[in-house]
Amino acid sequence: MKAFGVVGHPIGHSRSPEIHGQFALQCKLDIDYLKFDVEPEKFDSFVSEFFANGGVGLNITVPFKEHAFRLSTPASEKVKLSKAVNTLYLNEIGELVGDNTDGPGLVKDLLNNDILLEQKRLLILGAGGAARGILPSIIEKSPASITIANRTIEKAEQLQQEFSHLQSIDVVGFEDVDGVDTEPYDVIINATSLGIQGETPNISPKAVKSSTCCYDLMYSSDDTAFVKWALDNKAQKAIDGLGMLVEQAAVSFEIWLGAIPDTRAIVDRIRRGE
Ligand code: NDP
Repeated sequence: MKAFGVVGHPIGHSRSPEIHGQFALQCKLDIDYLKFDVEPEKFDSFVSEFFANGGVGLNITVPFKEHAFRLSTPASEKVKLSKAVNTLYLNEIGELVGDNTDGPGLVKDLLNNDILLEQKRLLILGAGGAARGILPSIIEKSPASITIANRTIEKAEQLQQEFSHLQSIDVVGFEDVDGVDTEPYDVIINATSLGIQGETPNISPKAVKSSTCCYDLMYSSDDTAFVKWALDNKAQKAIDGLGMLVEQAAVSFEIWLGAIPDTRAIVDRIRRGE
């Protein structure tokens, strides 16, 4: 049986084995997909042993995405830019290749929800690994403008600088979101991890207008704190990141196995708590 897995620390919360298990059932493929909780100092040796023992593919989650980038050959220019990897595999000459499916997964789920980025004024909250991973795919969609708001301004400025040859990016603190621009945003993406504590970035509600679409990378069986905030402020749409989670998994599945699963059916099943 072909062996796959997701590596993180901690990893207990991960839904990836369940999602890939459903993909395999749908596509009539026999796979073994496990969770691996690996201590940071053992990450390199874990990855080499996994592939030396015949493993086919690994997903990488917090806190190892940048580590996985350093360990692998980037699959594309987009991966080189993001400097973060969530999918590992060996190519035909046995090289360890790193890809990032978070950006394609997000863009696919935005499309599933009729949210277009082309020529839109976009606000991204957060400048961590997830923001870094999704930026190349977002820039590819040619938004009219991108503003990144983050607690640690230097991290947002780092992204601004690294992506400056592709897109001009405005950077602000959460408290100054209003100060950059007097107009509200068309799309607001929350890529902070504040939702884990049930909190939202402290930005002015003036960032939202009635046609604004809000997307939270965090997901939950109830509305996330950011989804609640967006609905309270009368956003047109407020969507959590479950769809992105399933879509990014589907892109990894296709990279490894060449099969394209039906993601919608799986998002619906998880939403129903099955
Ligand atoms: P990181 O730890 O790399 O980054 C965390 C971000 O949140 C940083 O911008 C950080 O700001 C900010 N933040 C954290 N705590 C606070 C706080 N107390 N106050 C203000 N800002 C804070 O995490 P990731 O980027 O990897 O993940 C971000 C979120 O995206 C997580 O919830 C994760 O689960 C989700 N995610 C969802 C995916 C999906 O498929 N749906 C895929 C990938 C991620 P600072 O820079 O100042 O520290």
